[in-house]
Amino acid sequence: MARGQLSREEALACSGCRHACHVMLYADTTSKLFGSTPIRHIVLMQMRFDGLLGFPGGLVNPEEESLEAGLSRELLEELGLEVPITEEDYVETCRAPPLSSKSTSRLILHFYVKKMEEEQIREVEKAAASTAVDHGLEVMGKVRVPLFRTTHNGGLSFFLSHSFIGSARSQLISSLLRLGLVSPQTMEKALRKSLRMHAETREDLRAALAFTERSTATGAHP
Ligand code: AMP
Ligand code: MN
Repeated sequence: MARGQLSREEALACSGCRHACHVMLYADTTSKLFGSTPIRHIVLMQMRFDGLLGFPGGLVNPEEESLEAGLSRELLEELGLEVPITEEDYVETCRAPPLSSKSTSRLILHFYVKKMEEEQIREVEKAAASTAVDHGLEVMGKVRVPLFRTTHNGGLSFFLSHSFIGSARSQLISSLLRLGLVSPQTMEKALRKSLRMHAETREDLRAALAFTERSTATGAHP
């Protein structure tokens, strides 16, 4: 699914490229929303400093450290505890989406997925909000991805309609499908609903802008 995919070896041979590694941490759970809707899986993402959703991780320098050691170091900063990542957790490498249609990105993304126990995920969430040095700075908070469907087709569909950094949304969707955490049929329905949500969000933003412009014109706020 990811565009601009390349092998790990090709990526590491690229001179002048920057490298970033990110990971999707997840666990199975038996807990139920409102005592009835099975949550099934916990998938962790984070609200980034720039207001976009993304995965934990960051820039790695392969000349100084292995990709996995660099990712583990980034995780310590963003999660506040050690989550060792190995080559077994590696999924794929691709170029970051270019900033313009004419340019090729020099940023290469290495993506990992790691399955944990529910209790370990809870520990990560606790540490991320307390001991992580990046909390409130580069990372505004961890979020769990709602994989279930609520009434009015909410849940996953509403989550997917948010804004994501670079290829994070497609990394999330392809991982959920590949791992069988969400069926293709459910994903298709969720994405159709997400697209409809976008139209509504647009109207909502327009109305908010009009309101703000009126406030600016009347000087209602300093
Ligand atoms: P970070 O330190 O986590 O912000 O990541 C390092 C670089 O990778 C930054 O330039 C981000 O904009 C970029 N980045 C982070 N996650 C993704 C992603 N999922 N897809 C594309 N670019 C990303
Ligand atoms: Mn980061």
